[in-house]
Amino acid sequence: MKLGHKKFHAQALLYIGIIFFSSTALNAKIAVITTTTDLNALVTEVGGESVSSQSFCKGTQDPHFIEAKPSFMVKASRADLIVAIGLELEVGWLPSIIRGARNPKITVGNPGYFEVGSLVSPLGVSTGKLSRAQGDVHPEGNPHVTLDPVRAGQIAKAIAQRLGELDPTNKVNYIQRAEALDARLNAKTKVWGERIKKSGVSKIITYHKTLTYFLDRFQLENPTILEPLPGIPPTAKHTLEVIATAKAQKVPLIMVENFFDDAAAQRVAKDVPNLRVVSVAVAVEGNAKVKSIDDVYEHLVLTIEGK
Ligand SMILES: [Zn+2]
Repeated sequence: MKLGHKKFHAQALLYIGIIFFSSTALNAKIAVITTTTDLNALVTEVGGESVSSQSFCKGTQDPHFIEAKPSFMVKASRADLIVAIGLELEVGWLPSIIRGARNPKITVGNPGYFEVGSLVSPLGVSTGKLSRAQGDVHPEGNPHVTLDPVRAGQIAKAIAQRLGELDPTNKVNYIQRAEALDARLNAKTKVWGERIKKSGVSKIITYHKTLTYFLDRFQLENPTILEPLPGIPPTAKHTLEVIATAKAQKVPLIMVENFFDDAAAQRVAKDVPNLRVVSVAVAVEGNAKVKSIDDVYEHLVLTIEGK
């Protein structure tokens, strides 16, 4: 009787174990938090139904300056993976979120913390000595890497590898989806390049060096920016210099990242004939029309085309 009871008990535990194991295996999604909406779009597409993902930064916010809210720490405390750009983009806020989360999985150096920026050949890496006098510079390179559709494809593939390490069962699916995304963005990049060439625009002024990778990919020049130094708001003196450059180089377009004030750009346009000023979304969900990573580039190309 006693033995029989024990046997029953063991069997029941085994069944419960099987039910529990299979339900977690079927239902538990990898909980990912990204720092930006672009990264969130890439993780969501690559992860498919095996991953749940959200972003700390909104598409309408300057990703350099996000408030490390307590609610972000709560979210991070339950995360399996943090995907960040690195290159100091999140240096002002992500470390305090991670500290506050008290989740060993996502601390720097563990598999649940992943930076992608340094993996995709950053531009603007500083070689000389840096000082605060040069503004808010990023010595490891410009962190706005997802503005290049080709690098975005490479980042998707890197994300697939990391998801595959955390969840080997679905590794093949992650890699297949990332390769499809990469192939799609590469094909579209050719078409975007042709459209930009046809537009006749070859020089664009921006507010901050947010669009460096986009401009570089499509061989567009960025003769100057409205910030006198990275991270420093426009000054009257520097705006006069921008006016002089825009006139001398016949720059046809200023694209103002839509989380910045366009007053300095409008001031420049007042003195420069045929200069268009357009506020642009520079991230997924940066405006109501920009819903996907593809939309980010499409929106910028349409802006250049004047559509
Ligand atoms: Zn920046």
